[in-house]
Amino acid sequence: MLRSQPHLRRRLVSRAVLVSLGLAVPGRELAGQEPGLPPDPAPTPTAGAAVHRTAFLMGTRLDVRIGGLDDRERLLAASQTVLEEMRRIEELLSTWEATTPLSRANRAPVGEVFPLPAELHRLLESALHWSHRTGGAFEPRVGALVRAWDLRGTGRVPEGATLAHALAVSGDRGMTLTSEGTVRRDARAWIDAGGFGKGAALDAARRLLADHGVNQASLNLGGQLLLVGAPADQPRGWSVSVAHPRRRGATVAALRVRDASVATSSASERTVEVDGRAFGHILDPRTGQPVPAWGSVTVVAENPLAADILSTAFFVLGPDDGMALARSFPEVGALFLEVTATGDVSARWTDPMNQWLVDPAPQATTYSPGRPMRPRP
Ligand code: ADP
Ligand code: MG
Repeated sequence: MLRSQPHLRRRLVSRAVLVSLGLAVPGRELAGQEPGLPPDPAPTPTAGAAVHRTAFLMGTRLDVRIGGLDDRERLLAASQTVLEEMRRIEELLSTWEATTPLSRANRAPVGEVFPLPAELHRLLESALHWSHRTGGAFEPRVGALVRAWDLRGTGRVPEGATLAHALAVSGDRGMTLTSEGTVRRDARAWIDAGGFGKGAALDAARRLLADHGVNQASLNLGGQLLLVGAPADQPRGWSVSVAHPRRRGATVAALRVRDASVATSSASERTVEVDGRAFGHILDPRTGQPVPAWGSVTVVAENPLAADILSTAFFVLGPDDGMALARSFPEVGALFLEVTATGDVSARWTDPMNQWLVDPAPQATTYSPGRPMRPRP
């Protein structure tokens, strides 16, 4: 069982804390929603036909709120299928559980074709397509580097030769995807779904909710949001606050989002510490180094998989190259929050973000805690 593993339990705890601190959390709940979280799997139907469920998924917490249907039975059925569907994606993609198809592909003998279930094949195809689109800033075949830095354990600075080898076998030289399946090229290479698994699960949920005719829902999977429709009294969309990259209690930007997914990447969300040096969990696949904690990137995109992947990629690229790439996606909003030497936050965003920002006037602002965002001089 996934949840009985001690290392995973550590991860669950740290993630749960992060979620409660809330990097990007919908501030508004469905009308009629009662406070209090029922234990999974017991759903709590409330007056006004809304349902709120919570579960553990992908090593983190999942919150599902569904409303907008007059029939309580349909709401319950929809919430149940959504949970099952997201679990199904986890069971395809988890690399924390040895028996999933991805874990088996990751252990396949070097040089042999490992046939994949069609859905996993399509997902990996899509992930590698995005890897290409981002110039390799997003690269799921970074397993050897994740291991070299011991990012799933207590952390370690790899020796030069170990790092060089891990870097060399990340990407194409470690593992390829053919029409038949995956082929490992090196015994250290493996695919880590950490950078796109949540997006894939939320994407599956999005399709299912549409099939069930649900037009009002907010899902929060470990900080990544899927927002369908809008609360009854807020036609502009769900309230989402974007926190200061280092001070979670401080809101830097307020968004109203509907029919889109919101993903945030930063280096301070999850860190391991070695010799007093803190490392983020996002690696630059081009250098093999953890990306420094320069700030955060929040991406709003219709497709949750794209939101998850692009927030990681933009974070790897940093505020300048990240902005340049983000501008090439006319339908994706990207908000870059850069922490300056004085601890202020300098914010920049692409045009599509204006439709979500509550106060979209300035294109560049600095933010100091206690003072509102103001135009950068
Ligand atoms: P979070 O899990 O906090 O939402 P991300 O979506 O940014 O963070 O994904 C980070 C995870 O993805 C890491 O924990 C690691 O498993 C994996 N990863 C690290 N660097 C990269 C990268 N450059 N491209 C793709 N996946 C990565
Ligand atoms: Mg991501």
